[in-house]
Amino acid sequence: MEYSPKKIQKLLDENGFHLKKMFGQNFIVDENIIDAIIRKSDLKENTLVIEIGPGAGSLTNKLSSVAKQVLCYEIDHSLDSLLNTVLEGCSNVDIIYQDFLKSCVKKDLEKYSYDYLYVIANLPYYVTTPIIMKLIEDQIPVDKIVVMVQKEVGDRFKAKPGTKDYGSLSIFLQYYFEIEKLMDVSKNVFLPKPNVDSIVVSFQRRKNKLEVKNESLFFGLVKDSFVQKRKTLRNNLKNYDLDRIETILKKYGYDLSVRAEALSIELFVEIANYL
Ligand code: SAM
Repeated sequence: MEYSPKKIQKLLDENGFHLKKMFGQNFIVDENIIDAIIRKSDLKENTLVIEIGPGAGSLTNKLSSVAKQVLCYEIDHSLDSLLNTVLEGCSNVDIIYQDFLKSCVKKDLEKYSYDYLYVIANLPYYVTTPIIMKLIEDQIPVDKIVVMVQKEVGDRFKAKPGTKDYGSLSIFLQYYFEIEKLMDVSKNVFLPKPNVDSIVVSFQRRKNKLEVKNESLFFGLVKDSFVQKRKTLRNNLKNYDLDRIETILKKYGYDLSVRAEALSIELFVEIANYL
């Protein structure tokens, strides 16, 4: 497969395919970026890769040469004949033409045998967070997720306390994963060129699992703490036992006038476990 804006456009034209904005179709047209994503994913032997949204198959094609098996979900059925052409000879690629968010992934995985499960994708920007949430909520046993996302969204995923991007979503995701930026990606590597910048982020299972006694209480506490980001914990957590919360805060030199954005995930865990 050859990569350049002209070549990918020619491929689309030959297959009578028109890009659809509503499906977040910004296809990668630069081979270096695809190679870098694959290199940085550090695939292990015997890995099954789930790709959400193969598009014109640029990433899929290369994944096929390094993974044991590639399982793709593509919402747009009209990519069918184009993908058949591009992926001819890639016998380890299966494509399910279906909305990933409505898919029964655990069931789909049953027919494969593998040692590692990765998700590697250039995600459609309009559903980035729901896709990551689905992987967590459906308890898909992924070892690693490497995804291209809108920079602004990726910055929220990996944000640390005391930064403007830090919020309940950062804590929710970092409860499960260690998240890091792998690289910045220029707008120029996409067809069509999007309005926003992108980054590639990786999610790896936390080495030190956080010991939370009651997850729903913990997530509820975090959500409520950030409900009005500029307000103090005293204001946001009126329905909680503020004395107990303050006992823990004081151990770390804070009081109830602190804002949620200053507190680490470990501190939220300690508060939740004490309530
Ligand atoms: N992987 C290709 C690439 O990098 O060139 C295409 C990436 S493009 C940003 C996103 C792809 O996801 C499109 O092919 C789009 O049709 C597909 N898509 C959008 N929403 C989807 C969904 N809910 N489930 C599965 N695929 C989806």
